[in-house]
Amino acid sequence: MEVNPIPKPPKSKRKRAVNNSRPTATDICEVCGAGYAANHEIFFGRGKRQLSIKYGLQKRLCHEHHQGPYGPHFNKAVDDEYKREGQMKFEETHSREDFLRLFGRNYLDTILKIMRSKED
Ligand SMILES: [Zn+2]
Ligand SMILES: [Zn+2]
Repeated sequence: MEVNPIPKPPKSKRKRAVNNSRPTATDICEVCGAGYAANHEIFFGRGKRQLSIKYGLQKRLCHEHHQGPYGPHFNKAVDDEYKREGQMKFEETHSREDFLRLFGRNYLDTILKIMRSKED
């Protein structure tokens, strides 16, 4: 049994977002202010990376705050925090329905879970 693949739009109309520009000294890490910070796509994997680029859901992060132990790729709590930020940013200009349709889940519901678990 084959899972229905999502049909791809024709190649000519498929514009890939550009995200390969080299970071410069004025690209500052949003956490520590270091220069030459790379763009981190808040939602990544399975086509979400391109959506992050398309909707500007990115953060400038230096190597340490990107790939280090306190970076979103290695720290689930940091990753979740950035994803909540990203969802809130998206929902300033789009509906929650749009977010769920594109990104598949509501990251803001974890805030309620955290609040509830603290009450116990
Ligand atoms: Zn940093
Ligand atoms: Zn990243």
